[in-house]
Amino acid sequence: MYCRGCGSELASSKKACNECGVHPLNSSNYCQNCTSPTKPNQVRCTHCPALLVGQGAPLGTRIVSLLVPLFGTFLYFMWYYKRRQAETTAAVSTL
Ligand SMILES: [Zn+2]
Ligand SMILES: [Zn+2]
Repeated sequence: MYCRGCGSELASSKKACNECGVHPLNSSNYCQNCTSPTKPNQVRCTHCPALLVGQGAPLGTRIVSLLVPLFGTFLYFMWYYKRRQAETTAAVSTL
């Protein structure tokens, strides 16, 4: 396999690359199977059938993708609560 940080060849049992010193699968610069350049959020290599292994999406992206639906749900409940409050206020004022 190849280092995903610098693309140099190494044994798959290696915990750190000889060339760049990082964990060979801890980067997203190259495909570990054919060393073609890859993007950070790429899941599959475009030059060979290999699935790209390693960190996957950066932590920030994962947090955002987790928080966005939660935030949407929160906003919906806020809106729902305010509407209920407005309805209650309206009902009280008509009495
Ligand atoms: Zn390397
Ligand atoms: Zn590849």
